[in-house]
Amino acid sequence: MAQPRPVRARFEEKVNRDGPIPEQRPELGPCWEWTAGRYSNTGYGQFGRRVGGKWIPTNAHRIAYELYVGPIPEGTELDHLCRNRGCVKVLADGRGPAHLEPVTRQVNMLRGEHPSALAVRTNRCKRGHEYTPENTILRADSPSRQCRECKNIHQRSEAYLAAQRRRRASRKGGGAHEAPGSSPGPELTSVSLMSMTDGSPPSASSASR
Ligand SMILES: [Zn+2]
Ligand SMILES: [Zn+2]
Repeated sequence: MAQPRPVRARFEEKVNRDGPIPEQRPELGPCWEWTAGRYSNTGYGQFGRRVGGKWIPTNAHRIAYELYVGPIPEGTELDHLCRNRGCVKVLADGRGPAHLEPVTRQVNMLRGEHPSALAVRTNRCKRGHEYTPENTILRADSPSRQCRECKNIHQRSEAYLAAQRRRRASRKGGGAHEAPGSSPGPELTSVSLMSMTDGSPPSASSASR
């Protein structure tokens, strides 16, 4: 069998140092674009290493950091300044600075594209309502803010009103007209939660089930 080639040589042949220039940050210069396989779920480059007889796939940009810079500092994640997940540029070169920077998880999240990160940066909820003092509900038991406008929308929704009607009816009638074991409580809770999270109006069938 052929000797395994050095990791660094195998790695470098999969990198195009003349990659795309980031649209949002052209001053960073071209990415080092990963040209081999990627993780389908995250879009990060995938590089396999043999560790103790086992083939271990790893994020290519993390391998790049270890190969060219050193161990990734404890408690940090590599943030893509270029927002190109296929980029492995961990070093400055003649055409620009490094595109990857070790930052704490919190900083990485705040810089990211996740709706909650955008909400913090733009001071708006996921539906785009501004967090003015009047529109912000702070709760003692939760670190996150709640949008009053969204809460109002939710409380006008069919699912919520149906739940209220049921609650009132079962209180009056002692639940006699409810089929035994139908337990409307938990089911309605899950319907309300669904309408809170995905923003789509709950269907009439699921609300009255
Ligand atoms: Zn890049
Ligand atoms: Zn809102």
